Amino acid sequence: MKNRILLLIMALVAMQIGNAQDSNNTKVILITLDGFRWQELFTGADSLLVTNKEYVHNPDMLKNTYWRDTPKERREVLLPFVWGQVSKMGQLHGNRNLDSKVNLTNTMWFSYPGYNEILTGTADDARITSNDKMNNPNTTILERYHNSPKGKGKVAAFGSWDVFPYIINEERSGIPVNAGFESATKNLNEREKFLNQLQEQIPSPWGSVRLDAFTHHYALEHMKKEHPNLVYISYGETDDFAHDGDYQSYLKSAHNTDALIKELWEFAQEDEFYKGQTVFLITTDHGRGTQPLDTWRSHGSKINGAGQVWLIAFGKDVRALGEMENEQLYSNQIAPTVLQLLDIPMVKEIKGSPLKL
Ligand SMILES: [Zn+2]
Repeated sequence: MKNRILLLIMALVAMQIGNAQDSNNTKVILITLDGFRWQELFTGADSLLVTNKEYVHNPDMLKNTYWRDTPKERREVLLPFVWGQVSKMGQLHGNRNLDSKVNLTNTMWFSYPGYNEILTGTADDARITSNDKMNNPNTTILERYHNSPKGKGKVAAFGSWDVFPYIINEERSGIPVNAGFESATKNLNEREKFLNQLQEQIPSPWGSVRLDAFTHHYALEHMKKEHPNLVYISYGETDDFAHDGDYQSYLKSAHNTDALIKELWEFAQEDEFYKGQTVFLITTDHGRGTQPLDTWRSHGSKINGAGQVWLIAFGKDVRALGEMENEQLYSNQIAPTVLQLLDIPMVKEIKGSPLKL
């Protein structure tokens, strides 16, 4: 009798373990930094730009803050979270000095085609040929997840650029997208009310892109309240400061975004819903030039190097491999990787193959 009870208990325990393995609780936070170069990510401040009076208001200050003797020290002082913590717990792809390459497969090398590729897993050079506010004819993984039984209503997107409602096709997909200068609208908490007020009172330097702190805090407050399984956050400042030719602000913004991502990670470590269950994927929609020097401000198919990008991954079950070497990845692999993490069946429209993180 005793043995039979013991066997029954063992069978029940085995079933519990089986259930735990079957049910996928993985959450994904996908983040992009618009037009942030792999050069600064992996080698820090650029020697040709950091004291260049044409691009820097205060060269002495910028040099003191971000210039160090070696690329390793420079990247650590620029991006302390990425190089102090992420490099120890995750993976960094795209350092071309180590022959780790990440490339766009679209040939446009500007934002809408880049985001379309990242979010759908397939470049569309025939139809996505401008940054116009055109509803995306392609289906993003956000929409695929939202249309799956387990993902319904568990997706949210936040962007600094006001074209995201079209890239994600908010109208067709029904995914809530807070982008551009939109306010938070539902069940507002005190912080969201204050963010809405500040957003009116702190002018953005640009017409179609807001400052990233707003995008970030709208996303964070939403995550605290609604706990979506799949969150997309698109920071935009780096690209706009670069177009402005303002290297000082470009570096400060990258440094600040590193701290914003750290804040998201720390929130995810404290929050019962996200804790131990969340994968962070971070990338960019395009690169920028290096030669001639002024092409650092620019991108597009005519700018050498603007198709060179990077990818960072860390969190649940991501192997701690640090900086990668000798590999070739593509931006169209990000979307299928997210679908696989969320346990959603692959579809034939997706060109890229999922990464084994
Ligand atoms: Zn741009």
